[in-house]
Amino acid sequence: MRIIHHGAVNGVTGSCHQLDINPNSSILIDCGLFQGAETEGKTSVEQLEITFDITHITALIVTHCHIDHVGRIPYLLAAGFNKPIYATTATAALLPLVIEDALKVGVTRNKRLIDLYIKRLKVLLQPIDYKQWFNLEVNHIEVDTGSNTETKNNSIGYQRAKARFNVAGHILGSAYVEIELSHPLPAVKPTQTQLQNKSDTAPIDKDNSHLVVFSGDLGASDTPLLLSPQSPKRADTLVIESTYGDKNHHNRKHRADSLRRIIEKAVSDNGVLLIPAFSIGRTQELLYELEKIIFEQQQNPMWQSIDVIVDSPMAANFTEKYIQYKSLWDKEAKAVLKQQRHPLDFSQLYTIDSHQDHLAVINYLASRKKPAVVIAASGMCTGGRIVNYLQRFLAEPTTDILFVGYQAQGSAGRDIQTYGPKGGYVYIDGERIDIKAGVHTISGYSAHADQQDLINFVEGIQNKPKHIRIVHGDTSAKAKLAEVYQRLLPNVAIEIGTN
Ligand SMILES: [Zn+2]
Ligand SMILES: [Zn+2]
Repeated sequence: MRIIHHGAVNGVTGSCHQLDINPNSSILIDCGLFQGAETEGKTSVEQLEITFDITHITALIVTHCHIDHVGRIPYLLAAGFNKPIYATTATAALLPLVIEDALKVGVTRNKRLIDLYIKRLKVLLQPIDYKQWFNLEVNHIEVDTGSNTETKNNSIGYQRAKARFNVAGHILGSAYVEIELSHPLPAVKPTQTQLQNKSDTAPIDKDNSHLVVFSGDLGASDTPLLLSPQSPKRADTLVIESTYGDKNHHNRKHRADSLRRIIEKAVSDNGVLLIPAFSIGRTQELLYELEKIIFEQQQNPMWQSIDVIVDSPMAANFTEKYIQYKSLWDKEAKAVLKQQRHPLDFSQLYTIDSHQDHLAVINYLASRKKPAVVIAASGMCTGGRIVNYLQRFLAEPTTDILFVGYQAQGSAGRDIQTYGPKGGYVYIDGERIDIKAGVHTISGYSAHADQQDLINFVEGIQNKPKHIRIVHGDTSAKAKLAEVYQRLLPNVAIEIGTN
């Protein structure tokens, strides 16, 4: 068994891990896009192209449908991949939307070509419910040991593999995956030669199997709407993300209070509050929190008159899926439903679909005398409809902008965050705009586990791992988490993934 990485080792994007089961069979876990500075200056085609051999890959397992975990799937298909793509039922429902959008934005506007890819994807997609084991195809290896042809043992590889998804609590449908590798139990005693040659009979775990766990992206323990991840009972090898391996978030109550206070202040002058947010996950979390505040502030006329506008057809599609899969919500969110409240579809919420309506809303907001909150993508202000809002409203002192997500170096969002409070300016689509708007940040509104969550995940595993490999993080986050884990588990081999 061997694990190699085709991404998400020198940063957090491009997730793509390869588990070699034996010399003839491998499984891919995720196939994502590199983003931002992590593209290392490569053109989009160069960085998307599948440069590794896929002949022995017998399946792709998708942990969740964020673009940096699935964005290279069209290129995998273009390379001739025709094996099953396993995903949870909710992820399988979201995935075609994500891939279609990714193709439109980054590859082609040719509808016929897009339809072909989506059709191909749907043929290969295998939706699997959480906690259901499913078998993975393993090509057998036969070895000639003289008079008999016997199955080789695990110094060469494994003969069987099965997998299952478990709740990761990161976004709708997200999962960590357990992959159990095993041999058929030997029917006959090992031969004298095998016994003498120890290296040929490598240690086998007590029930003849080895359990590999890929964390995917783990959610924060108090993410609104979604269940928190539960640790697996056992993991012999654990490959774990470390996005916030060196940080702890503010708790949810603290974040919700900040959100309420910032909105109250921002709209007290009837100005607009802009929240750049990713369409999947973050937007729905915000809606959930906003509905909760509006409900709690029933006596507050400001909160009862506020318009919440989601200006993103993508976000609207995903919100619909979040509602469709409400069986996956956490206890608190289900209790809200029982009270006949609609956390993602409340009466003050307006969803904008067409481009024409989008432009009309901008004009309407410019002339209205009533508080409004606008949520639009992209989360880092690098494109999408938020750009038109920024161009129209950033130079107005009654405007406020609230950042709830990570702003990468070099993004317009980071520039607004850095220069806005100093009375500076920002270039958006080549146009210089003076920032008169108030700039706010709520840190820790993250769909990712923080350091404590990552510690809890490992502490919760009853049969502790023998190996932990740390991936999906910046250098300092990976190093810090490795240090913390080593202190916690002095006898465990902890390594940082490299490619
Ligand atoms: Zn993710
Ligand atoms: Zn990720």
